[in-house]
Amino acid sequence: TLDESNSVEFSEMMLSQETLDGLKQCGFIKPSPIQVQAIPLALTGRDIIAQAKSGTGKTVVFSVVALETVLKLRTTPIPKDRQELLDMDDESYAAAISGVPRHPVVMILSPTREIAVQSCDVVNQLARSMKYIKAASFIGGLREVDDRHRLSGCQIVVGTPGRIRSLIESLTLRTDDIKLLILDEADKLLDMGFSKDINWLHRALPVSQRQTLALSATYPVSVLNVVKAYMRADVMEVRVGSDTPSLTGITQYYQFVENPAISYQAFKEKIASLLLLLEQLGFYQAIVFVSERQRAEEVCKLLVRRGWPTRYIAGAMEQRERLLVMEELKDFKLRILVSTDLIARGIDIERVNLVVNIDMPRDYETYFHRIGRTGRFGTYGVSVSFISKDSEQDRNFLHELRVRYNVELLERKDNDEIPEH
Ligand code: ADP
Ligand code: MG
Repeated sequence: TLDESNSVEFSEMMLSQETLDGLKQCGFIKPSPIQVQAIPLALTGRDIIAQAKSGTGKTVVFSVVALETVLKLRTTPIPKDRQELLDMDDESYAAAISGVPRHPVVMILSPTREIAVQSCDVVNQLARSMKYIKAASFIGGLREVDDRHRLSGCQIVVGTPGRIRSLIESLTLRTDDIKLLILDEADKLLDMGFSKDINWLHRALPVSQRQTLALSATYPVSVLNVVKAYMRADVMEVRVGSDTPSLTGITQYYQFVENPAISYQAFKEKIASLLLLLEQLGFYQAIVFVSERQRAEEVCKLLVRRGWPTRYIAGAMEQRERLLVMEELKDFKLRILVSTDLIARGIDIERVNLVVNIDMPRDYETYFHRIGRTGRFGTYGVSVSFISKDSEQDRNFLHELRVRYNVELLERKDNDEIPEH
């Protein structure tokens, strides 16, 4: 479904042989529409605002551009002292011989620590055979003293705004040679929560020969202008697909809850329906969204009691624990992850084919990001959202999704069958 619209190949995009090999090794044979549109344009050096639905390969867009940026800076290797060449470890030797810079030239910012770690993995996987290129992640919640070591020889830094700022302030991270700034989930990075740090970073980075790329599935009108303020005047906007962020591979259902919205009974009713749904549906992995940590913990406990390998994740948890939970999900040790909106965006787990909204999100963007955790790269997924009958807010949300965003939402009751693809 993703590759119908184009026949351009990666090999026609003026990429280096190294990057082409990396793409192939990762199993990326045909570029997705956003990759076809955005990669060649970005390689011309212009600033870009890219918009494409969840799961359509935006990470590969900026990872490829990041690698090309590093490779373009290759110079003829300076002949080294012979003894020095013999003494170097493998990584330093590869770097010295390759002629690539050994300090940061690309900065990738992510709104959550989990996305930063995941994006860093993608870059490093693409660069697996480029031993002289190193991407590293820098996130809050882990010891900052360990970052110094990770920074050595690193050209591509990936991180969350707070930690990156802190590393610059302590003069640990040198930014005067940053040529490319990437804002992943740009609308989130530039909304209230982060704007102070992003503003600061924007001023801390070189302006003149710096290229900026912004990527997201959603750009609320109010934020789009803010994004543009960080770009040069000739910024290009690249959009793929319709304006509605709704996803084609995902069948979206809703189920009414009878009990009063704010009652504990309503919460229990939702959990009971969730249990039924899980028993009926042949799903691989599921993500269940709730409004707050306490509810996540409670849903999780119940699912575990009923025999489902489940964990929950929330912002207040210790960072090591958070990363461990994500690892377990990736490794298929978990069938179900219960989450607050912490992982509503960006997280890419191939086998997630069910998203359940126990509680509806606060805004429409978050709804599309949440359900976008399934149906990734043209696969199929199902989402089920619980709507409290007596909650005006819930019913309005449903109405707006249908009317304003043109989303097809099907009503479902307990025990109704969900056809499998
Ligand atoms: P987005 O950021 O647009 O939501 P991601 O970059 O996380 O999406 O990509 C979604 C999935 O698609 C990932 O698992 C990724 O490995 C896969 N993918 C990306 N590009 C390609 C490609 N050209 N061919 C095959 N799979 C791809
Ligand atoms: Mg993404």
